[in-house]
Amino acid sequence: MSLDELQTEMELLGEKKFRAGQIYQWLHQKLAGSFDEMTNLPASLRARLDEEYVCALPEPVRHLKSAVDGTEKYLFRLPDGNVIESVLMRYHHGNSVCISTQAGCRMGCRFCASTLGGLARNLSPSEMLGQVYQIQKITGERVSHLVAMGTGEPLDNYDNFLKFIRLLTNEKGLNISQRNVTASTCGIVENIRRLADEKLQITLALSLHAPTQEKRQKLMPVAHRYELNEVLDACRYYFKKTGRRVTFEYSLAEGVNDSDADADLLAALIGGLEGHVNLIPINPVTERSYVQSRAKRV
Ligand code: SF4
Repeated sequence: MSLDELQTEMELLGEKKFRAGQIYQWLHQKLAGSFDEMTNLPASLRARLDEEYVCALPEPVRHLKSAVDGTEKYLFRLPDGNVIESVLMRYHHGNSVCISTQAGCRMGCRFCASTLGGLARNLSPSEMLGQVYQIQKITGERVSHLVAMGTGEPLDNYDNFLKFIRLLTNEKGLNISQRNVTASTCGIVENIRRLADEKLQITLALSLHAPTQEKRQKLMPVAHRYELNEVLDACRYYFKKTGRRVTFEYSLAEGVNDSDADADLLAALIGGLEGHVNLIPINPVTERSYVQSRAKRV
């Protein structure tokens, strides 16, 4: 809940309005995982909240740490049994968490393992926040950056994702700068345009992955719904409205989209656009046949 919603809730419970501020601080700054921890609330109120509301962080069930660069991967279990992944990356500019926005995904990108079982359900704003809060709590280190590039398509869960961004960047919460937030999308055109109109300062990352409509359709079923030109027009609109350069994600698969001709087509396609290209050697997925491009090719 936003602070306003919490205040309304307190009024409905016949409580003083200032209680909302206390609870908000417990939830979003002290990262409480239960009402019991909210020790400046009367015991009677805590008991009532416990009966009528839910305050819970996702339960960590597995944790992996890379021996190469210290990147940490968390598997969290949600109350309904779904499990989701989040990743912590430490950079010189701060700690960045990559969150999931859905349990599963229905977008069907051919190179992606997260979509193999389809979409289970959307995550709520609190389940997205919970991944960040839990990681900050476990490590004891401040999270300063966020990328929504884990499982799920954030713009396929638009309202929850937007509410999450507003809570995450709220000055009474973790107060992460909007400029440190990146939303990655496979290209849901109408929602890129909607996002552009929200007056946010977050970065948009478009999963482009191919320089032509034909090739993109082979890699990403969503490309059957939107023409490449429509998607790029929406990116231009995003830059125009926000002044934020778009990042173009380009996963490289050997012999698929990594030829010199592909590079030339890519340059011609987005050359005039304010943006960055992020080249990513594809992560091989057992169920698919794609092979990572060699370093020299990248
Ligand atoms: S939108 Fe993202 S999570 Fe969904 S299938 Fe595509 S790459 Fe995977």
